[in-house]
Amino acid sequence: MSRSKFASSLLLLSLWVTAPVAYPEAVDATSGPKAANVDTRRLLAAGDDEANWLSYGRTYDEQRFSPLTAINDKNIGKLGLQWSADMDTARGQEATPIVVDGVLYISTAWSMVKAFDAATGKPLWSYDPQVPREKLVEVCCDAVNRGVAVYNGKVFVGTLAGHVIALDAATGKVVWDTQSIPEGAHMAITGAPRIVKGKVLIGAAGSEYFTRGYLAAFDAETGKEAWRFYTVPGDPSKPFEGKHLEAAAKTWSGEYWKYGGGGTVWDSITYDPVTDLVYFGTANAEPWNPGVRNTTDGDNLYTASIVAIRPDTGEYVWHYQETPEDRWDYDSNQQIIAADLKIGGQMRRVVMHAPKNGFFYVLDAKTGKFISGTPFAKVSWASGLDPVTGRPNVNPEAKYDVTGEAVTVYPGAYGAHTWHPMSYSPETGLVYIPANQTAGTFASHAEEWVPGEVGMQTGVDFSVGAMPADIEERESWQKKTTGELLAWDPIARSARWSVQHPGPANGGTLSTAGNLVFQGTAGGEFRAYAADTGKQLWSFATQTGVAAGPATYSVNGRQYVAVLAGWGTLWDLFAGVLAPASGRVPNVSRLLVFALDGKAELPPLSPNSLAVLDPPPVAGEPEQVAEGAWSFHNSCSICHGDAAVAGVLVPDLRLSATLNNPELWQKIVHDGILKDRGMVAWSANMTPEQIENIRLYVIKRANEDRALELQPPI
Ligand code: CA
Repeated sequence: MSRSKFASSLLLLSLWVTAPVAYPEAVDATSGPKAANVDTRRLLAAGDDEANWLSYGRTYDEQRFSPLTAINDKNIGKLGLQWSADMDTARGQEATPIVVDGVLYISTAWSMVKAFDAATGKPLWSYDPQVPREKLVEVCCDAVNRGVAVYNGKVFVGTLAGHVIALDAATGKVVWDTQSIPEGAHMAITGAPRIVKGKVLIGAAGSEYFTRGYLAAFDAETGKEAWRFYTVPGDPSKPFEGKHLEAAAKTWSGEYWKYGGGGTVWDSITYDPVTDLVYFGTANAEPWNPGVRNTTDGDNLYTASIVAIRPDTGEYVWHYQETPEDRWDYDSNQQIIAADLKIGGQMRRVVMHAPKNGFFYVLDAKTGKFISGTPFAKVSWASGLDPVTGRPNVNPEAKYDVTGEAVTVYPGAYGAHTWHPMSYSPETGLVYIPANQTAGTFASHAEEWVPGEVGMQTGVDFSVGAMPADIEERESWQKKTTGELLAWDPIARSARWSVQHPGPANGGTLSTAGNLVFQGTAGGEFRAYAADTGKQLWSFATQTGVAAGPATYSVNGRQYVAVLAGWGTLWDLFAGVLAPASGRVPNVSRLLVFALDGKAELPPLSPNSLAVLDPPPVAGEPEQVAEGAWSFHNSCSICHGDAAVAGVLVPDLRLSATLNNPELWQKIVHDGILKDRGMVAWSANMTPEQIENIRLYVIKRANEDRALELQPPI
């Protein structure tokens, strides 16, 4: 793109907030210092490198603590917007910015990467891997990406299509491109790569889709695979890829390998130079329902676990399973923080973890031995943990596959904490957790479960837990589903302070030596609190929900705080039913950068018109509507909410004019005429009759809501 075109697109941007930004594509190398001049020595010393944010969690221990103090609890009132940049995508934004020597790198939805001048916001280059939009059918949780890694002049990103790509940090041009997921696997990379000893470490998501979890390492210079660590055993008629998998196979039964096993590594990867180990978390076993994946009881190692391996070889060292024989989608992928804690009068090197299952764990970093585990949110699936081993005492009624009864448990599949990063301040000794209070209803299929070709394969009947039409029941659910910023003392094993949020899925946290904790909210604010007391000191109206983790850095001595705004992601798609509790905010995908005395302003938000429900009359036979309900809840609901109320990121189908037009409905759902907007063809997975029944079901729900005078959020 020419310079003048780029300038005019910037002008357009300032006039019209929702216009897509035209980012410059790969540019020619500029003279000057080497971009992303980061080596292993520098990564190891990142803690003292105040000005920069060199990897996803800032330092290898993933503490997300910055020693910068220029912005602090005394002058935070002067913090203002310095610059902002609109993203050219409207899907969920989850990335933490990386900053190296005055250049800021982010990834966005659809695995795109952008570089900016970190002080001025001038776009330097942009890269789009052109992920096929059809990929959305085989990923559970939006087209998101949580960030890039930098090393030796290159920027690394994992893509939704399952590639690991190295870009020239100065130009955005591709250096190498390696397919990481197996050919045809329904896997996607959404996590941020980490660079350890010259290797790019990254796993992939997909534990709802017959996949086999792994963590892989690639040579940072060539993209050649160095090793691959599988988290679950494969076909036992073939040689095991290690003794740890031979041992793990004893905890599985039946023809488990045909379903892949799950245990994907979709987020946390922590390198600990103190132990020279890499710790990572694994996802649920696949399918969710143990009654369909195994023939007898078994722990199903190494799912829902923390695993420690050697970075040079990928060799197994230890594991700790947090949820044996998981049946509630209790991924253990959440960020793992390594730290030195004084426990019982003795300094211990530990890892700290707040997984979906609601217990806060402290483990010995070298051995994986259980030190403590304490509920940090409402937990009903287990009555507690064994004080020596940490093994949960599972409540019998929570085993829906055994009882044959539907059960509502805390936490739900969304988890008491998910990927939204937490931070740890060594100065306050507190872990700042973006926690959730959520319940979930689980039930086995009434009839024998038959695996499908595409879509989530859980062995769980989602239609059982659908939002009720009754308004009082809905309000009751809404009240039970909240969010919280929790300042957790990992030694005292209790919250020092907490801040309540009306809904879940609030932003990741950043803590600083300026006695500050930063967090965005799902309701459209970016806030700062006093790290020691939790007192709210500052807030900025972001016009949109914030889910991602913030970063802070300095350029020429001036400190900045950056956060990627724009909600989306799983909660906002699937459970948008509760969005009104968070303040009815739209998605505006935008990078926000703050500094003391920053005077920039956001463009005004376009006024939204209130949507009015006006569906066609109820039609079809009850059996057709019921069949449509089943199909909807097991396929469409992942993006379109539960059809009682949809999220705001994708169209609320109850408002769709195509409810009146069965032919157009078929063209969209069956033929995929809107695939460029993310709505792909379902012709390979559903018959026209099934698709018509879904229409009849949505019409019924829309009519129920109109009768209740429930209008959707704007
Ligand atoms: Ca999962």
